[in-house]
Amino acid sequence: MNTISSKTNLILCGALCLFLAWSTHAWSTPKTKQRTIKKVETIQVETPVGTAPRLPWQVWVTYSDGTHEWRQTRWMNSQLSTERQEANPELNPAGKTYTVEGFIIGDNTTENGYPITAKVSVTSQPWKVPSNTPAAQPLPLSDVVIKGDNRLTNNRDLAIKTILSWDVEQQLYNYRDTYGLPTEGYPKADGWDSPTTKLKGHGSGHYMSALAFAYASATKTEHKMQLRTRIQNMVDELRKCQERTFVWDSTLNRYWEARDYAPEEELKQMKGNWAAFDEYKKDYKHYGYGYLNAIPAAHPALIECYRAYNNEEWVWAPYYSIHKQLAGLIDIANVMKDAPTIRQHIEVSHHEKTPRYITNKEIADKALLIAKDMGLWVWNRMHYRTYVKTDGTVAERHAKPGNRYEMWNTYIAGEVGGMAESLSRLAEMVNDSTEKAHLIEAANCFDSPAFFDPVAKNVDDIRTRHANQHIPMITGALRSYITNNSPYYYNLASNFWNLVQGRYTYAMGGVGNGEMFRQPYSQILSMNTNVQSDFQRNMYPNPTINETCCAYNLAKLSKDLNCFDPDNAAYMDYYERVLYNQIVGSVHPEHWGVTYQYAVGMNASKPYGSETPQSTCCGGTGAENHVKYQEAAYFANGNILWVALYLPSEAQWRANTIKQDCEWPAEKSTITFKPAINKKLHTFSIKLRVPYWATSGFDVKLNGHSIAKKYKPSSYVEIAEREWSADDKIEVLMPFSPHINWGPDKMDIAATGKNETQTPFAPQWVGALMYGPLVMATPDIKEWKDAEFSLHSDLSDIQPNGASSETGFNGHLYTLTFNGKQFQPDYYQTENSTHYLRLNMETGKKSRSKKGVDMSSLKHALQIAKERVDRQTAWNALSVKTPAFSPWAPYGYARLVQQVNQAEEIIHKSTKAVTQDEVNAVTSTLNMAINTMRPGNLAEPEDLGELLQMLTKAKNNPDITTDLREAINYADMVVQYVNDGSGTRDLIDKALKLLCETMKSAEKTNE
Ligand SMILES: [Zn+2]
Repeated sequence: MNTISSKTNLILCGALCLFLAWSTHAWSTPKTKQRTIKKVETIQVETPVGTAPRLPWQVWVTYSDGTHEWRQTRWMNSQLSTERQEANPELNPAGKTYTVEGFIIGDNTTENGYPITAKVSVTSQPWKVPSNTPAAQPLPLSDVVIKGDNRLTNNRDLAIKTILSWDVEQQLYNYRDTYGLPTEGYPKADGWDSPTTKLKGHGSGHYMSALAFAYASATKTEHKMQLRTRIQNMVDELRKCQERTFVWDSTLNRYWEARDYAPEEELKQMKGNWAAFDEYKKDYKHYGYGYLNAIPAAHPALIECYRAYNNEEWVWAPYYSIHKQLAGLIDIANVMKDAPTIRQHIEVSHHEKTPRYITNKEIADKALLIAKDMGLWVWNRMHYRTYVKTDGTVAERHAKPGNRYEMWNTYIAGEVGGMAESLSRLAEMVNDSTEKAHLIEAANCFDSPAFFDPVAKNVDDIRTRHANQHIPMITGALRSYITNNSPYYYNLASNFWNLVQGRYTYAMGGVGNGEMFRQPYSQILSMNTNVQSDFQRNMYPNPTINETCCAYNLAKLSKDLNCFDPDNAAYMDYYERVLYNQIVGSVHPEHWGVTYQYAVGMNASKPYGSETPQSTCCGGTGAENHVKYQEAAYFANGNILWVALYLPSEAQWRANTIKQDCEWPAEKSTITFKPAINKKLHTFSIKLRVPYWATSGFDVKLNGHSIAKKYKPSSYVEIAEREWSADDKIEVLMPFSPHINWGPDKMDIAATGKNETQTPFAPQWVGALMYGPLVMATPDIKEWKDAEFSLHSDLSDIQPNGASSETGFNGHLYTLTFNGKQFQPDYYQTENSTHYLRLNMETGKKSRSKKGVDMSSLKHALQIAKERVDRQTAWNALSVKTPAFSPWAPYGYARLVQQVNQAEEIIHKSTKAVTQDEVNAVTSTLNMAINTMRPGNLAEPEDLGELLQMLTKAKNNPDITTDLREAINYADMVVQYVNDGSGTRDLIDKALKLLCETMKSAEKTNE
């Protein structure tokens, strides 16, 4: 290229392009007739009285050319007030019938899509629930090995190498510090486990889970040995810390327990600053029997007084980090209990003087013992010191410490992760009936009625909640169903999962904007209003949204739901979506770094910032993600084996080896069997997933013969029970074809870097190109103005180029060409790629509403806005206000009020005096104002003005000292948190103070 002058280059390109344009025109097959939707399956729903109807988020569609596909829907009952009315037994008694209007999105039959109607009948029968005994279990992690030289094995091996590089001593620092043991020689923890961060212990918990999963997934004995040494070290040292709380109290004539820590009057006086925490640490003897955490017991106690999320003065998320540590110990117990002890494993922690033989089973038992003792500490604290009061005003509910209704409904501070999941698992694992009963009780002490009750009725109270605070609560609720057998918990989990599918997910399976769920069906608006600004308030698109922890937790929830209903392929369709795209794509394949926010949207680069399990929450889940890709590949029960994912792998099941020969990702997989030596293969049936995207050419051959004529995508095809032989061969053929994953809302605005929050675009459907299970993204588009395309309805203008023949981490790479742009899978992308395009699919005529100007969307938005204004007004009228509990942060609220006024002006005009475009514009800005509001305790981008100014000054400093570099890094981190929606004002103040002081002292030194 560099030998040709740029001018010649231009001419050459011009000539070539002309030739290509002509050749495409001359040789491509003539455009076929547009295909239109001809038939949609009938949608009839029975809904128990007192619930909102479960409407499908995808429907089976037949096109005019005879082809079929699953298409996404948007239902018009998604307003909270409408759903509440539907769930009101007085308005909708048993026997009543009604209809709900909806649309197939991405279609141009009408402005809103292709119209569909659901017929709803209210019944006195409850929803059918499956048995509380799971109908299938995934094969244990250590029984499945991923094979080959591909992105999956590359990421796994990189993860194991990285996990081994992390220092155990550093993980132990906080525990020793918390239990009065010397810390010399132990490096201080960093990131969110650092001595000045109250999420301490979360990283150590993830570290333990990562060690366990890596042990199960490692293919080399030497790696297993090294991992085992670290596992044993953690377990031994943590037990030593825990034992320091076994304190006999002769007055009580029993051990000092959780309930004895900080009696109520003392609790009310407790401070949450760091100086106070230094004092609490000295009193480890009074944490209560079994307390195990990397921070003193004051931290979980303070949330009983409804202390807000604020790292410096109060709490972060006390039970979130407790959950991670319990989960880590339980994962160790589960992996090690059945793992054979290899003779070479006889190694010792270097803290022990005398070498001692310890079996894997002993390690597992010890890990379980620590987790159980801590689980019972939690039960003791919850049982004796907390309660639930749901009625009355907030002040009344706060009057006495320990009201769990309020504790768990507090932003971030009430984030409890999967406490219910861990406690339920413990209940399943212990034998003593009293302990079991206590752990079952403790699990449901983490129910959040304010969130659970509506969702259990299928009312979408997910909107505007913190995403990762709430997803694991649902996984916990589902796990508790095994022991409490209450359908409430199963229905809650099922409703949540289904609501999330249609209303909140992006194409790669993740959810959220910053860390928040926004309004339902607003993914495109959310994506385009996620902005960052400079100190002059210029707004730039910030496509780092879609927190990776949420993907991790939604994958886990899908796997767990699949255990109860393993023939419903939708769960594993979703699991595949989120694994193959976001999770596999969330680690840099060459040097370890995982994403916190992921990258979705326009010109998005993946922020691979998290390098250790303690660095961020996503550094923690990211430490686990890449050593458990196979966790949901196979499920089994009795004589049935489900092949849920097509991965190159070998699985051990009932003394048989099941081998899948395929590439990753796979369009063809060959499954064969091998019995154990001197054994016969068992008799069993096999169920194979027909992915939702396998719309053409799917086939299953048994020993060369197709087993069926037709296969319905998103189902399982069964090969009936038979005696298998080592000569049997199953071939699954699933050619990839393109389809579109549509955003549910049309795009009409985006930030463009000007001093404004929006630039109007003509409303247009927005979609991501998919190829089989893969989200395809392009590095060739950098701005929305270049992202607008017409698309033939049969997608024939998308050209698949097949897969490359190389192996290795970038091997077997699929590409597509569309309108001259190159597309590669999202997992492969690292920088500057675009996922969504403005797509005009040519599906028949647009029929504009003939009723004149349509104000329904504006009215809908205005109702949401007014509810928010009412809440803020009620709060403003309170005589005693806690600023941290103010419903809305001020700048966003001010924008809302301004937009409400504009909307009301328009709505009061006669429909003849306004145009549809004017109504659309006001609706759009009002929706934007709604979507960009934050809860009152959070900082807003506007709060960053002074800090950004100071940061610019600091970065322009000619001599950046080490101290100043640290202050700059801290400030950069705070700016990122605030932009992402998790930063507080005390963080800004701290960053500003640090910058000012460091710059002043640097100036003095220079003088
Ligand atoms: Zn996270």
